[in-house]
Amino acid sequence: MTPEQDCIFCRIALGETGATFVYESDDVVAFDDLEPQAQTHVLVIPRRHISSIAAMTRDDHALVGEMFEAVSSVARARGIEESGFRVLTNHGQDSGQTVFHLHFHLLGGNRLGPLG
Ligand code: 5GP
Ligand code: ZN
Repeated sequence: MTPEQDCIFCRIALGETGATFVYESDDVVAFDDLEPQAQTHVLVIPRRHISSIAAMTRDDHALVGEMFEAVSSVARARGIEESGFRVLTNHGQDSGQTVFHLHFHLLGGNRLGPLG
């Protein structure tokens, strides 16, 4: 089994899990987190399997731009553009990364706790 076949976010991006996309383009999808840590907690991911931000290369510049555009678009759609939001991504053990397919967390809709 390839890492991609074994990866829950690859399966979600392929539409295999029936997840509802709150943003969708050729290269990027976004969907609600299963265990939301804020009133709005959306995950923005590339359709292509990239294990984390540490595996990104120069060739991924356009993709990163589109992921941030997706974040803004979802924030507008969720009505949290004015009230504020946070974007974060985890890499590796110390961050607590649990899914090894790059994702940006978009958090907002209520006052967020301190970082770290
Ligand atoms: P990490 O800890 O790797 O930065 O974040 C992984 C996130 O993915 C967690 O917030 C977790 O709740 C979410 N998650 C894990 N599995 C699934 C799933 O099957 N569906 C959705 N929508 N979210 C998931
Ligand atoms: Zn994947």
